[in-house]
Order: sequence, then C-alpha cells, then structure tokens
Amino acid sequence: MDHETIIGLEVHVELMTRSKIFCSCPTTFGAPPNAHVCEVCAGLPGALPRLNKKVLDYAIMTSLALHCEVTRKSRFDRKNYFYPDLPKGYQISQLYSPIGKNGYVDIEPAAEGASSKRIRIHELHMEDDAGKLIHDEAGNCTKIDFSRCGVPLLEIVTEPDFRSAEEVVAFLTALRTMLKVIGVSDCKMQEGSLRVDVNLSVRAAGEEKLGTRTEMKNLSSFRAVSKAIEYEAARQWEIVRNGGTIDRETRRWDEEKEQSFSMRKKEDAAEYKYFPEPDIPVLLITDEKIDELQSILPELPQAKKRRYIEELALPGYDAGILTENKEITALFERTYEICGDPKEASNWIMGDLMKLLNDNGTNPEEMVIREESLGEIIVMVKEGKVSRASGKELLRAAFVEGAIPEEYADQHDMWLISDPKVLGTTVEEVLARNEKALSEYLAGKEKNFQFLLGQAMRATAGKADPAALRTVLEERLRALKG
Ligand code: ADP
Ligand code: MG
Ligand code: ZN
Repeated sequence: MDHETIIGLEVHVELMTRSKIFCSCPTTFGAPPNAHVCEVCAGLPGALPRLNKKVLDYAIMTSLALHCEVTRKSRFDRKNYFYPDLPKGYQISQLYSPIGKNGYVDIEPAAEGASSKRIRIHELHMEDDAGKLIHDEAGNCTKIDFSRCGVPLLEIVTEPDFRSAEEVVAFLTALRTMLKVIGVSDCKMQEGSLRVDVNLSVRAAGEEKLGTRTEMKNLSSFRAVSKAIEYEAARQWEIVRNGGTIDRETRRWDEEKEQSFSMRKKEDAAEYKYFPEPDIPVLLITDEKIDELQSILPELPQAKKRRYIEELALPGYDAGILTENKEITALFERTYEICGDPKEASNWIMGDLMKLLNDNGTNPEEMVIREESLGEIIVMVKEGKVSRASGKELLRAAFVEGAIPEEYADQHDMWLISDPKVLGTTVEEVLARNEKALSEYLAGKEKNFQFLLGQAMRATAGKADPAALRTVLEERLRALKG
C-alpha cells in the first residue's frame, strides 16, 4: 500500500420529538409545504425561542450511549450566514460548549480478519435544522419549504479515525442501531433523518502529517457513502501522486453519475461570526439529571451482543446480526421467550426469516409479522403439531400477510395427527393389511419395521406426527411379540 485514506464524519440526526427544538410546531415528515411554521421557526423579529426539554434529554442520552463526557455547563451559539432556507439568518447551534465530548464507538468491520477498532467521538451538539429548497426545473424557479426549520438535530463529529469505507459503514450501522434502540431517532437516510458528511484526505505511506481534506455531502444511502469514499480517495490520490494539491472544498456526490463535484470553497468558523445565543439561558446539567437518564437507557446493542454470546451461547456472528436491528432483536427476544430455546429461535431467524427478508426486499422496520408468531410456530413444530415443512409455510404466511399461525394451520389443514387413539386405529388397519410383513417382523426381520411405519404414514396421507406414530406402532408390535 503506497498511500492511506483518512476519514472523519459529521453525522446529523433528526430527533424524534413531537415538536420542534425552540417552538411547539410539529415535526411531522411529509406535511404539505409550509404547513408547520410559526413566528419562532420563521425567525420573525421579537419572537423568542424556548428549548424543548426532550431535545436536551435525547442529547444527554445519546452522549451517555456514546461514552461522552456530558458538559455540565453548556450553551447555544449563533452561527450566522445567509441562505434562502434559513429565514432567521442564523442557525442556533453549539460551538464552544457542546453537550457531549470525548466519546467513542467500538466497531467490528465486516472485512475478513478485521478486529475491533475504536472510533473516537470528538463532540456532539444540538442545533436546529434549516428549511428545504425545492428546485423546480420545469418552472425554472426554486421553492422553499420552511416546515423543516427548527426540527431538532444532533450533530455527531468523529475524530479522523477511519481508514476505509468498510470501517465507516460499520460505524454508521452501529450508530444507527444504537440511536434507534435508545429511541431518539428513526435514522431514515432516504427521508434525511440521518445525514452523513464525509471528510476525507489522503497521504503517502509513512507520512505523518494529515493531508488537506474535502467534505462530501448529499450521501443518501450507506452504499452511496461507500462509493463516494472510494471515488474521492482515488481522485485525491491521483492528484497528490502527480504532485498536485487538494483544494479545501465542499463537494457534492452525484448518485447517478457516481462522481463528486465541487460545490464551494470551504468557509472557516470565523466566517460564521459565531457568538453566544443571547435568547436562551445557559444549560446547567445536574448529576441527578444524568443519573435519571442513565437509568432509563435500554441495554445497548453491543452489550446485548456480548450477553447473547456469553449467556445464551450464541455464535458471535449470529449475536451480531440479532442485535444489529431493533425489529430483529425484538422478534428474537419474543420468540426466545415463547419457545424457550435461544438456539432454535436464532436458527429460524438467521435462516428462514433472513431469506424471506432478502427474497422480498423487505426492510425489518416494515415487517408485518406479529412478534409472537415465530415463537408459536417453533412450539407447534417442536410439539409435533405441524411438520417442519408446514412450519416454514406458516412463517412465510406470517411474514408476507401477517397470518396468525393457528388460524392459518386450521384453514390449510396443516395439523398433524398425534392422538394415540386415532393413530392406534390406523396402525391396526395397516397391520391387518400387511400380514406377511408383520409375521416376518415378529419372526425377527427387524427391518420390516420401517416398511410398516411407512405404510402407516401413507395411510394418514402424511398427516401423522412422525414421533407419535412411531411410538404407537412400537407399542403395538411389542404387545404382539408378547
Ligand atoms: P471544521 O471545524 O472545519 O468543521 P473539524 O476539525 O471540526 O473541522 O473537523 C471536521 C471533520 O473533519 C471531523 O469529522 C474530523 O474528523 C475531520 N477531519 C479533520 N481533519 C481531517 C483530515 N485531514 N482528513 C480527514 N478528515 C479530517
Ligand atoms: Mg465542523
Ligand atoms: Zn414554529
């Protein structure tokens, strides 16, 4: 390797509060343009912002989950700039005393042989979102939707600790799962509730000094992040290798062309003329507040994974998949609770369910299967009430149409016969019809047992619970042997 790629991320997450950060307008995504705007978020003169307490709680919870120090005396700052999507003329953000600092996330990149790596979190702060510009090519104009103004954001800034696209994707996956599990954001990249800016530079092998970086925006999926990193790293190295220099600039990723384009030369913090926000009091965070929020944090995915490996004896790979997604985790826990067998619950999810998700291109969030269904199906198969093949069919129906296993088994005549009386009658009939095979068996030809069992199974049209049928036949033959 003749060079190294250095990456740091700035991640914006929209918080799932009902109302905006400094006013009581709703945060509903997809509302008609400008439906949710008031004098505060529109920045009318004289309007005063009031901090939504939930935003602060969520910011502290996220800080704790990211192992950050929570800043006890924090405040907001104004970041001044002019842009049509910003009616106030400034963003209310945090520059000097962000709510969280010096945290980390441990990642396990998927690349073979890669071991766990610590990504340091530089800081984490609260801010308000800007509006949305809609460029109407046909009408040759730009429309503005101010409804997003004032939607609460957390910005999470990492140290430049990443060396590859795989590491970045592993980090974003872990971060997204964590934010969803603690319930602060739904992290939908397509809807813009998780937005990732990639800062990237390259340097020759052995070089200590970091190179000049560019910042890339408009990355709307993990795949785009990955592609953009590879493209930008190659572009920069081509320039540096040929003795050129990299411009410090903001670039836009074009998803269709799979190329990045220069947007603007980078501004410095000084150009924003930051100053303390005078309309919002300083935030004093007490120990009690931190303890309270710490105590309501749910078990975090990485801790859960460790517990699945240690307590439930699941393989690390399975434990990773089962804790990577909130919906999958919930389904696993409910299934395990009902069937009492973690390995079995895991096997059905890792095998049959994952295949259904893949084949149907379904996101786990969109699953219509009831959380109880898989556990019920496993119990039905285990108790010999339905066959393993019917179990698969039941899972498919539960997955595709939300079918309730018991009802579906009724409607499709899936129940296996396990009643010893019914099976006893069948066995009698089969033995009566197969006198020769029976007498040979009683004279010592053991292998006729399989034949008789097969005949009995056929007599039930394959509807017998195999274990129950075997028991009934064995008992009957034992009795005949005397
Ligand atoms: P600014 O104040 O200009 O936004 P920061 O120091 O806050 O710059 O860094 C912003 C992001 O850029 C961080 O995620 C950081 O890790 C990353 N970064 C900083 N220097 C480099 C570099 N030389 N190469 C790649 N990423 C970098
Ligand atoms: Mg920055
Ligand atoms: Zn408002």
